[in-house]
Amino acid sequence: MHQARRTDEAGAASIEAYFATETDDPLAGAFAGKRAVHPFLGMRPVPDGDRPATWAAMRTARRDGKSVAYVHVPFCENHCLFCGFYQNPWRASDGPAYADAVVADLARDRDAPCQASGPVHAVYFGGGTPSALAGRDLARMIEAATRYLPLAGDCEITVEGRVHGFDDDKVAACLGAGVNRFSIGVQSFDERLRRRLGRKAGRREIVSFLERLVAGDRAAIVIDLIYGLPEQSLDDLEADIRMAAATGIDGLDLYSLNLIPGTPLIPALERGKFSRPVEPGRLGSYFERGSQVLAAHRWEGISTSHWRRTTRERNLYNLLVKTGASCLAFGSGAGGFLDGRSYRVDRDLGRYLATVAAGEAPVTHIMAQAPHHTLLNAIKGGMESGRLDIAQATAALAEIGGATIGAAIQPLLEQWRRAGLLRLSDGWLELTLAGRFWQVSMTQRLIEWINHNIDAGIPSARTLSTAKPTGETV
Ligand code: SF4
Repeated sequence: MHQARRTDEAGAASIEAYFATETDDPLAGAFAGKRAVHPFLGMRPVPDGDRPATWAAMRTARRDGKSVAYVHVPFCENHCLFCGFYQNPWRASDGPAYADAVVADLARDRDAPCQASGPVHAVYFGGGTPSALAGRDLARMIEAATRYLPLAGDCEITVEGRVHGFDDDKVAACLGAGVNRFSIGVQSFDERLRRRLGRKAGRREIVSFLERLVAGDRAAIVIDLIYGLPEQSLDDLEADIRMAAATGIDGLDLYSLNLIPGTPLIPALERGKFSRPVEPGRLGSYFERGSQVLAAHRWEGISTSHWRRTTRERNLYNLLVKTGASCLAFGSGAGGFLDGRSYRVDRDLGRYLATVAAGEAPVTHIMAQAPHHTLLNAIKGGMESGRLDIAQATAALAEIGGATIGAAIQPLLEQWRRAGLLRLSDGWLELTLAGRFWQVSMTQRLIEWINHNIDAGIPSARTLSTAKPTGETV
């Protein structure tokens, strides 16, 4: 066993800091812990004073390539213990005014090049809890999206929701307005565990809701499940997946529990609310069991965290947004990406409502993208899907005239291959099961190492496709 030197700090100067531990059990021990991909890695904030002019340039720029839209509904009935997305408490009286604001937000720039040019391939209504809104308010927002956005003929339109409060009338309102995909946050079917985590619907209610959606046969139905929850055994996870498969849904996201600072789960664990705590070192074994059960049901893994049972499920929004597609953002707290810049819609609900009512753009933050964004997007998109097209990455390298970056990352990829995280064959980098589990951590490290080399001004030498320190082409 080889224990690599590691600092886990962004921008660390030595390549060994990014190496994995070479162990017989890479699922358990390749890295010390999971890391999230920082969404603004390599980006530069636009100063507040420059924001109006920058936004004016962004809204008059035509969109190129694939595009999606995201509409945020920032309300929840309660703060589920594990969740880092909670924003505002839900009050039914807030719903109509919020839907009015989103409709106005969607309409304001309907003729601007940023919005009117090029097809939009996927629209995602996320949160928070979109399904908390009344059916008529959901329908108004969805209809506004179909009216004011130039949707592609095969546009995926998703509404995210939770079972509690998502009645048949709301489902019908969504379908009538054009929704063709529902993403339902289940997390676990285990009733005892669900209630302690703050989830309100019981197992029977969830199963019956999903079966009704499936029987309606009018939309792709996908759910989220989490593994590694406190007091959840491997058999509990397997039972959850088998239950999900039995409902006939089209797709499934499988996420590991992420202990997010500031979420109520952390003090709950510290207070001893759960008899068996979360065991980060065992998360890989949950991923392995989950992958095995899904494979046994012949589900197809279309990303490192998403599986589908039917071809109705495309997971289009999530896949496009991770490959650097343009993203139009609407609603308080939404994040978008246009003309090489990321932007954030005002998270402050009162200010968002007032700004939109005044006919102004509620944009509060803009970040300029790294010059080598094509390369970073190729890496993020490829790693997310579990296989990286070497030719595509090489072309992106050539775009920045930084062919030697390929030589710089070659030893890192080779070390990860030795550590059992990836395979290299026929022009593709393919993640192993352990690599799929550690994908996010690997992507973060790979991008940090590339950024470090670019910052250090690595001189030109070899191309990615010809660098062969170990006899394998990367
Ligand atoms: S899991 Fe969903 S409903 Fe619960 S707090 Fe998070 S966003 Fe809200």
